[in-house]
Amino acid sequence: RETMATANGIKRTVTRDGLEVSVMANVRSREDVELAMERGADGIGLFRTEPFFLAAKHLPTDKEFATFLLESLKPARGRRIDVRLLDIGADKNPIYLHLPPEPDPFLGRRGVRLLREYPELLAAQLRAILEVSKEVEIGVLIPMVTIENDVLHVVSMLQQFAAEMGIFKLPRIGAMIETPAAALSITSLKTHVDFFSIGSNDLTQYTMAAGRENPLVVEYFIDDHPTVLRLIEWVVRESGTMPVSICGELASRIDAIPKLLRTGIMSLSVAAALVPEVKMAIRGIEIKKRREP
Ligand code: PEP
Ligand code: MG
Repeated sequence: RETMATANGIKRTVTRDGLEVSVMANVRSREDVELAMERGADGIGLFRTEPFFLAAKHLPTDKEFATFLLESLKPARGRRIDVRLLDIGADKNPIYLHLPPEPDPFLGRRGVRLLREYPELLAAQLRAILEVSKEVEIGVLIPMVTIENDVLHVVSMLQQFAAEMGIFKLPRIGAMIETPAAALSITSLKTHVDFFSIGSNDLTQYTMAAGRENPLVVEYFIDDHPTVLRLIEWVVRESGTMPVSICGELASRIDAIPKLLRTGIMSLSVAAALVPEVKMAIRGIEIKKRREP
């Protein structure tokens, strides 16, 4: 079974006891996508759009963003591709937005919270993604979801723009699970989306109450802590048949992968360069019975 190739000619990644795992790549540019394909990634599990928006001198138009996306994603055509909407806040401030400073940017208006208040910023991205979806099948990821309205807002905007553009087949839409509130709201969130992607970097920071960029609390930032793994397992279980993947640093920690797979996770997204290493590690793992983390 392990030697069977997929339709893309990529060798399957199967544990010693027969669980097939998908290993995709986290990227931010055309170069990253090319590297991901070279290294045998099964898809693009996370396209981070922050570098593109932060490098721009003015708010990119939907056309400019669509051109960038299309150009970047071409090498991955035919595989699963998930593009994340812009995830910035007061800690990353593009010059054209003039965001007011906030005392606690990581607990403030970032990700979808910001997009909900800057309609032109959200519109440019959704229109571009819809335009690209005519040529390349892609999914949209909503960053930093906390409450149901975060998802409802983006879904209704996507539907509205699709109708205006005469597009009947909507791209798949997914919620990033990066806050304990989102993790514990899977039952209601799943009625509005097609898939989930767990961002373990933020999920750890918000579960362990330890800033991911604060060297003074590294002892508390434990991304494979039993509480984090318990939340991940909860997400997988409550999602039922809905696809769930994980795209934080935890997904590429070789020592943590067995624990992750035992939560029921069957899809990982890691830095493009690490794809072969992660696949090799998975092939050597025996999951045996799934057990409580
Ligand atoms: C995460 O939070 O785990 C994640 C993948 O998103 P980012 O690292 O870009 O915040
Ligand atoms: Mg995150």
